Amino acid sequence: MRSEPAALVLVGPSGAGKTTIARRVVASRPDRFVFSVSATTRRPRAGEEHGREYLFVSRADFRAMVAGGELLEHAVVHGDYYGTPLASLRRAGRRAPVLDIDVQGAAQVLRHGVGACVIFIVPPDADAWIDRLDGRGTESPGRIVRRLRTSLGELGGASSFECFVVNDALDQTVADVLAHWRGAPPGRIGAPEAAVLCRDLEAGARAEIARLRALGGRAAAEGASDRADEAKVQDS
Ligand code: ADP
Ligand code: 5GP
Repeated sequence: MRSEPAALVLVGPSGAGKTTIARRVVASRPDRFVFSVSATTRRPRAGEEHGREYLFVSRADFRAMVAGGELLEHAVVHGDYYGTPLASLRRAGRRAPVLDIDVQGAAQVLRHGVGACVIFIVPPDADAWIDRLDGRGTESPGRIVRRLRTSLGELGGASSFECFVVNDALDQTVADVLAHWRGAPPGRIGAPEAAVLCRDLEAGARAEIARLRALGGRAAAEGASDRADEAKVQDS
């Protein structure tokens, strides 16, 4: 019998539903799965708690974690640092950690050869995706522009993954994710269909960026300062 992978890794563009799915997978079998709490330098959103959603750390502390070899993988996403602490994985014990990370991080996990099941979560269509991203209500228009810009890179990187799940109805999505985890071959959507869907999503993201920019003022200004922030993080 095939042994289960060491970790479940969910990747995909911002707003695809990775966090929601990860939480549902853990809630479905808390004896088998545990959410891997990442470290990040982004500020907590309302309702988020240090140690539950993330370890919220300063940039200096994050750099010290990198220098000390404390992270399995790390990346700059939307202008902030994010990384998976090895300590979070150790705390999982016999349970499988569920990682909600970006494509750069997933590539690093695959390079480590830790035996992960990596699934690319795809929104069902551009309208539903953008509604979910806007509807979450956690981001200003400028930050949505930034997330959409990052998402263009995530969607462009989809072709390097093998397993795709479309997040349409949540119950079905969670069932599909668990089926892949148990070893079912990628079935409901193959790489060619995923590539077509990702191109549609990229077109939708570009149209939404243009719409938000046309709204002007604040979104454009925040977009500009986001780019300056990103340059600062990349340089630091
Ligand atoms: P991500 O972690 O990929 O950025 P989230 O899990 O935060 O995405 O989901 C983005 C928004 O979409 C949230 O408001 C979430 O409740 C909603 N959402 C996620 N999956 C679904 C779904 N299948 N149907 C409807 N809404 C969803
Ligand atoms: P958010 O700020 O919306 O919680 O997450 C932003 C992005 O960072 C998402 O794409 C999420 O998957 C990614 N992310 C969260 N934690 C990690 C991590 O530990 N490593 C990497 N590489 N990306 C992460």
